[in-house]
Amino acid sequence: MKIPFVTKEKIEEIAMSYPTPFHIYDEKGIRENARKVNKAFSWNKGFKEYFAVKATPTPKILQILKEEGCGVDCSSYTELLMSEACGFFGDDIMFSSNVTPDQDFIKAYELGAQINLDDFTHIEVLEKLTGIPETICLRYNPGGQFKLHNQIMDNPGDAKYGLTKDQMLEGFKLLKEKGAKYFGIHSFLASNTVTNDYYPMLAKILFELAVELSQKTGVKIKFIDLSGGIGTAYKPQDKPNDIETIGEGVRKVYEEVLVPAGMGDVAIYAELGRFMLAPYGHLIAKAIREKHIYKDYIGLDACAANLMRPAMYGAYHHITVLGKENQPCDHKYDITGGLCENNDKFAKDRMLPKIDIGDYICIHDTGAHGFSMGYNYNGKLRSAELLLKEDGSVEMIRRAETPKDYFSTFDFTGLFD
Ligand SMILES: *Cc1c(COP(=O)(O)O)cnc(C)c1O
Repeated sequence: MKIPFVTKEKIEEIAMSYPTPFHIYDEKGIRENARKVNKAFSWNKGFKEYFAVKATPTPKILQILKEEGCGVDCSSYTELLMSEACGFFGDDIMFSSNVTPDQDFIKAYELGAQINLDDFTHIEVLEKLTGIPETICLRYNPGGQFKLHNQIMDNPGDAKYGLTKDQMLEGFKLLKEKGAKYFGIHSFLASNTVTNDYYPMLAKILFELAVELSQKTGVKIKFIDLSGGIGTAYKPQDKPNDIETIGEGVRKVYEEVLVPAGMGDVAIYAELGRFMLAPYGHLIAKAIREKHIYKDYIGLDACAANLMRPAMYGAYHHITVLGKENQPCDHKYDITGGLCENNDKFAKDRMLPKIDIGDYICIHDTGAHGFSMGYNYNGKLRSAELLLKEDGSVEMIRRAETPKDYFSTFDFTGLFD
């Protein structure tokens, strides 16, 4: 059973100041989880979690994570600007982008970010734009299929990211010639994994590669970045990942592979997004319409523009009808938004308690890749983001868009004169 971090009474109180729909985040949950992540890897002196900004690009969230000792992982110019505004600088920033425009490389370099190159050809691009920095990272793609316990987790051979193994070797040699002193290795092989074995398995691949590259090229490996991919238990029957077990699993491989190779000073980096935030956000919406045709539909004041994952991936998000937590789930509904798109459904054939107009609907696990994937299709406006603070008070950390925001890229002067 998934229990919301807010009650119906609390939402009724909040909705008096901030109308639905809105995303709300649980500061206490975010902080406690961040501390667990840091503790699980505290055996590694240089460990740092670089929060993937794209998951929840909201300054207040970045500041909370900064206070918990996290850095940021950026992949675009505006993510770099936001991180700069939040006080991240130098080694606090990983820049893991792809198809990177010149402007982005230049900004990352100016901020002193640790730059992670997605392709061999980017070495020359970066050299021409800014020169090669002292610390540089290459993203690895092993190709083929990525299997865990004989199960296919993902298909790196079909992914656009990273360098082949030969390119990693040539890349490190070339970067060394061009003056780089400290090297990083990065890879992201499977997304949203719900198993404690993904990180240790990835670590083994990258640690063995690090030993080989270091022996063949003589470069100094400073860090190995395990990136994102630790997932969220979206379904109530999923077993959540245990970060302590994951940290311990990586430590074992570290001691088996890196320590005997004399590389016991390599720092471990992470770029977790989903694991840091997803469970600590809810999308709160109100049931505003119902219809009964061939199926029974409940229409919300939120739509796929506020949470794209169900429409885009058919992703499951758990739903709680606030105040009806203990009522039997004896009604079958499609829960929909109002886009002119039939895939705008938060749930299909979902068994829920009887829903009445005006009921508040809590959509779970929207703290990462939720608000941030929002869009303006059908002229729908982005919602507010609220923070439930540790003392129980609520702070608006992003206001809702207004029609004026939607029209702000037009100049209507002259049109209506
Ligand atoms: C998206 C992304 C992440 C974060 O992924 P999660 O699944 O949210 O943990 C980390 N690193 C890079 C390079 C990414 O693109």
